[in-house]
Amino acid sequence: MSELNDLYQEVILDHNKNPRNFREIENADKTADGNNPLCGDALRVYVQLEDDKVKDVAFKGSGCAISKASASMMTQIVKGKTREEAEVLFDEFHKMVTGELDIEKEENDLGKLKIFAGVLEFPARVKCASLSWHTLHAALNEEEAVSTE
Ligand code: ZN
Repeated sequence: MSELNDLYQEVILDHNKNPRNFREIENADKTADGNNPLCGDALRVYVQLEDDKVKDVAFKGSGCAISKASASMMTQIVKGKTREEAEVLFDEFHKMVTGELDIEKEENDLGKLKIFAGVLEFPARVKCASLSWHTLHAALNEEEAVSTE
């Protein structure tokens, strides 16, 4: 587990310093705002669809390193996926950070996102890590805003 923790630290620092897809998408097909008042994380997710695929996805906002890194990785991974695939990832990610999915034993498509399994040990951080995913889910389902409270 400590190797995973080292990797976790490294990835979080990297994405926090240099978040990917950290920009607005003008005329985005879908947007939603996500708020995590407990920590003060606030971000907006932009989605551009083409047919049923996520052609482009980006985010803007401010928050702690974990929320930012998670949003950054989410945009990288979801880009090019179908809506359905994105929703599966949302579901798996949510289950992983809440302890409902055992990533070692149960099949999943989380890949690199597995490093966030570490937040399980820090309950206050679970909402930080999953905020961007809830916001993406809201955007894809025509909801304008989501709050973790
Ligand atoms: Zn946070």
